[in-house]
Amino acid sequence: MQSLTDICSLITSCKKCDLYFSRKKAVCGYGTDKPKLVIIGEAPGAKEDEVGKPFVGRSGNLLNKALNYAGILPKDVYITNSVRCRPKIGKSPKITEIKSCSDYLKKELMILKPLMLVPMGNSAIRSLNVILGTKLGRISELEGSVIFLDEKLIAPQYHPAAILRNPKKMEQFKDNFVKIAEILKNLDNGFSDSVLSNYKIRKINASSSY
Ligand code: SF4
Repeated sequence: MQSLTDICSLITSCKKCDLYFSRKKAVCGYGTDKPKLVIIGEAPGAKEDEVGKPFVGRSGNLLNKALNYAGILPKDVYITNSVRCRPKIGKSPKITEIKSCSDYLKKELMILKPLMLVPMGNSAIRSLNVILGTKLGRISELEGSVIFLDEKLIAPQYHPAAILRNPKKMEQFKDNFVKIAEILKNLDNGFSDSVLSNYKIRKINASSSY
């Protein structure tokens, strides 16, 4: 099986979609190789494109604040994106770009095997749909919910950039991470029906999985 380093080498030399023309740096995932939580963002922004690391701009600061608030430690987290090269300014990635890039996320998840995935925003949800064969809805319907699928949990969140545009959602954003931290703590002894029922976790099936 490929390592995270192997996957990063593939990403930094990738030319599978047109986004490679305009990128300064392709951005690999970042964090521990034994995460409880994998957080999936949309795509690199200007700062990430310069630095080559995910979530180093304003969105990253907000995400770090929410994780600190919830007591989620960096040793339990891996952060990645649905596409690894910066889309055109102000644009979300196209579904064709998400599809081209989704194999890298799939490979990361096969190695990392986290307890929980946190897709942040619609592009991250679309990327999971490509990988898992699911038809998860839009973030406006899913935010704050937790889904149980093939022995893993999915807790969709708004992207921090959406919170920066609409600060009224900030408290809910932080509280969602508090709930995620509580569930993770309860999962230290494995999945149980009581955890699923206590947190109203919805079970679904997928046509494929990683
Ligand atoms: S966005 Fe993904 S698929 Fe497209 S060139 Fe970059 S790494 Fe390759």
